[in-house]
Amino acid sequence: MPGFEFFSDAERKEVNDVLESGVLMRYGFDGMRNGHWKAKELEQELQKKLHVKHAQLTTSGTTALNLALAILGVGAGDEVIMPTFTFVASFESIINAGATPIIVDIDDTLTLDPKAVEAAITSKTKVVMPVHMCGSMADLDALKAICDKHNIYLLEDACQAFAGTYKGKALGTIGDAGCFSFDFVKTITCGEGGAVVTNNSKMAVEADQYSDHGHDHIGSDRGAETHPIMGYNYRISELHAAVGLAQIRRTDEIIAIQRKNKKVLKDALATIPEVSFRRIPDEAGDSATFLSFFMPTAELSQKVVEAFKEYGVDAYWNYFDNNWHYIRKWNHLKDLKSLYPISNHIKEGMQDLNAIKFAQSDAYISRNISCLIKLSWTEEELQERAQKMVNAIKSVL
Ligand SMILES: *Cc1c(COP(=O)(O)O)cnc(C)c1O
Repeated sequence: MPGFEFFSDAERKEVNDVLESGVLMRYGFDGMRNGHWKAKELEQELQKKLHVKHAQLTTSGTTALNLALAILGVGAGDEVIMPTFTFVASFESIINAGATPIIVDIDDTLTLDPKAVEAAITSKTKVVMPVHMCGSMADLDALKAICDKHNIYLLEDACQAFAGTYKGKALGTIGDAGCFSFDFVKTITCGEGGAVVTNNSKMAVEADQYSDHGHDHIGSDRGAETHPIMGYNYRISELHAAVGLAQIRRTDEIIAIQRKNKKVLKDALATIPEVSFRRIPDEAGDSATFLSFFMPTAELSQKVVEAFKEYGVDAYWNYFDNNWHYIRKWNHLKDLKSLYPISNHIKEGMQDLNAIKFAQSDAYISRNISCLIKLSWTEEELQERAQKMVNAIKSVL
């Protein structure tokens, strides 16, 4: 999925525009900036590309999640439902908001299981946060129906699924708010960066203010602006936004290559009866950053991992023992290892994560292998890779 494979003169040109004026900040300095507003322009491009009314850039996907939870009004005493399989930023942002993460099982989509979500809802639930892991989407119709029924917010973490769609709509734009990451290993990159998107105009104004210390951004004298709310600093720099601006223009090309490359590998693996694939609720909207498949047992998937090594296949993961992405190794969360005192709301509201078993998630994650789809493979490398993968899997059956 990495946009970094595509770093080129286009990115250098956009960055040079900023370097030539020396205005590295997204606000103010109107006279000096030679008409360059890279952050503003990137927000407009995001709105156009995703068909969404508002986009607010941030410094990272993590701060995008912080910002999204803030504009959804999430705070002390609130519960946010999140999946067992995600990136650690999910619970970091919930705890940062002062809210309580409630962790529930995934299903064969590798994303939130709607049945597990429904079972976890309480009078304190404020948000359901599906994470569109490895480029493909959660079952958004089912999750949205649950949120509507219980009058709670749907927040899509689309950090790994930029430019994916669900029934024709961009991922991230279907819930009340959506988040993207533009870190160095995501579909497109700013180096570091992120964004919150929403169609809610009130929340968009709040996002604009909160991400810049509560500034109202009215008038042209920054020092004279008022602060309707307390905020924070999640401002992206013009240098980072400039990189993203060049990258977003290549999105269609990136997605097309990913889809083409993924299809070759998937078609090859589909010839092996023991291999099954992650369920994708809308195949046509897959951003195709990963090929995720299941072996019939955890033992066989471990053997495939070893065989891939032997056969020289790289860039694949079984997440069962992964420190970043799966609940089993989140010991710092389970033991609430914090630099500062954690509120009683959180301490008392948390599940006992050291005791609780996520058998359904374990069953899927232990059998799963997810392979990164690269942009830079030649046709020959791709065919060779497909053959190696098939041979490696067959060697353990
Ligand atoms: C990368 C990622 C994030 C965080 O993004 P950063 O820009 O690295 O802070 C959040 N959620 C998911 C699912 C991610 O993959």
